[in-house]
Parts: sequence; structure tokens; C-alpha cells
Amino acid sequence: MSDSIQPRSMVCPVSIDDQQCVTLAHGEGARATRELIRQHVLSRFDHPSLSSLGDAAVLSVSGGRVAMTTDSFVVSPLFFPGGDIGKLAVYGTVNDLAVSGAVPKWLSLSLIVEEGLPLTILDQILDSIAAAAARCDVSVVTGDTKVVPRGAADGIFINTTGIGEFEINPPAGPASIRCGDALIVSGPIGSHGLSVLAAREELFLEPPLQSDSAPLHGAVAELLSAASDSVRAVRDATRGGLSAVLHEWSAECGLTMALRESQIPISQEVRGACELLGIDPLYSANEGTMVVAVDSLAVEECLAALRSVPETCEAACIGVVVESGTAPVTIERLLGTRQPVDEPTGSQLPRIC
Ligand code: MG
Repeated sequence: MSDSIQPRSMVCPVSIDDQQCVTLAHGEGARATRELIRQHVLSRFDHPSLSSLGDAAVLSVSGGRVAMTTDSFVVSPLFFPGGDIGKLAVYGTVNDLAVSGAVPKWLSLSLIVEEGLPLTILDQILDSIAAAAARCDVSVVTGDTKVVPRGAADGIFINTTGIGEFEINPPAGPASIRCGDALIVSGPIGSHGLSVLAAREELFLEPPLQSDSAPLHGAVAELLSAASDSVRAVRDATRGGLSAVLHEWSAECGLTMALRESQIPISQEVRGACELLGIDPLYSANEGTMVVAVDSLAVEECLAALRSVPETCEAACIGVVVESGTAPVTIERLLGTRQPVDEPTGSQLPRIC
């Protein structure tokens, strides 16, 4: 699969001239930069710290600890079924805060834009960022815009840094996972990686794939308020998919994660695409699906809490933690045989987030 520049991701749906594209002047810090920021960025984000255009955002925290995370987004193509680079840039960072047990509050937004990107495309992406931030109740409080010459980026790259506050005790983490704990996945797996691949390679699959790109802060809040003492670890299953998270957890706690294939939710679309492309859904990336390890006594409570939130209404218990065995992660296949699940060594699909 090609990882080269994808011109179609930059194709503007209306005819354009140079004045309607980002130019190098937009990145030079002078009047064109100010106009770009005022007209295209500030008009969409309302926070006093951003609109004052100061050198740093000054934030009031409620005391105690905060969580901070950062992520860069280079997905190709920029738009794909179920999402776009803007949504990913917000939900990706929000989800990393949420699964750490923090309530996402503030985001920085850094744009690295390739000269020639149509302003209509930039506007669509900024609209998507604004809508996603509003959905997560996070404010964009600081940012940066750079423009690089044609060929030095692929349309646009985005970095977001997020800060969240702890309003409830966070999970103890994967080292606290014990034998007998239950493993939960918050919804059907594998759709994001496959939907980006299908969009990039222009595969018209039937039924069509849709990325699971979604925020998880609401689901984590429900989960922790229902059973915070019983939740050992939470992680969003992004690059490397479900398999990567479980291998990391096994390494942390020294136990085996034993899955049951019949219990893992996989949509018909993902199953079909995986069979066609020879990809195992256990390794395909998700952008709105998380894995949770909980005390087995609280599994029903945790499932009920997750299922009460639209983004995680298909949560399912997919396995159990057992004494360290032949492999860090195993799966009982549909025919009843138990097999090791290999650790992903690299990404099957580059540039999916
Ligand atoms: Mg993560």
C-alpha cells in the first residue's frame, strides 16, 4: 500500500484559484498569518485565552494533580468514512486523558499546513475540530500555525496537547491486574484501521466500513462512577488494536490475557473486509473503542455502566486473566482450539491516525 502523497485528499470540491489556498505567506507571522488565524481559527473557537493571542494560555486548575498528553495526527486521506483528521485530533487526545481517569478540559491545537491546501478544506477540518471539541466539552486555549512548501507535508498535519483534571480516583493501572479479572471491550473492534485503508486505496466494499472515531470521556466517567474501586486498567485500543493493549498489560502484570473469539464484538463489515484483505481484526486500529480490566465481581455493573452510554452501548466481556501460560495473550477460536495471539511488531497500516 502506498504511503506517498495523496493528492486526492487535498482535492477541493469547488473550483479554486490560488487566493483560496494556503500560501507560504500565511505562515510568515505577518498580516497574512494574523488574517488566517482571525478569520479561520479564532472565529471557530471561543476562549478568552485564545482570542487574546498571548504567548501562553493561563489556566485555573482546581488543585491537585492534572494529566497531560500529546499526539500528532498525519492520517491519509484527510477525510474517510466516519471521520476526518480534525475529529481524530480532538478525540485521540481526549481519549488518552479519559482512559487515564482524567476529565479532559483544555487542548492546544498546532497546524502544520502544506502550501496549496484549499482554504475550504482547512475550514472543513477546523469546523470538525470545533464540533468535536464542543462534544467533549474541552476548550482550545492555545495554538500555532505553520505553513511548509508544497511537498514538505501532505495537506495538513495536526498536533494536539490535552490537559485534564482528576475529579475521581483514576484506575490503579495494568500492574494491578489480577488472576480472575474480567476483560471488557467497549464496542466492535477493528473498524478504524480498515475504513482508512479502504478510503486510501479506494476500495468500495459492501457493506461499507465506517470508522469508530468517537470520544470516550462520557463512558469512562460512567464506568468510574459505577465501580471505580473495581476498575484495574483502561486503555483505548488505537494503533496495534486490541492485541497491542493486551500484550502491554500482560507485560505489566505478568499474567496471561485469555480471550474467547465468540465473545468479541466484530461487525459484519469488518469481518468481511478482514477476510478479503487477510487482516486480523485483533490488530486493526480503533479510534473510539477501549479495553477495560475489572474485578470479575463487578463485571455486570461495569458492562451496565458502559452500555448506558451511546458510544459504548455494545460493550462485551471478551475474556479473563489467567496464570501466566504459554503466551501473553491467547484466544479460544470458534472451533474450540486455544491459540497464542502474536504481538504486533509494527503497524500493518501506516498513517491511520
Ligand atoms: Mg492511548
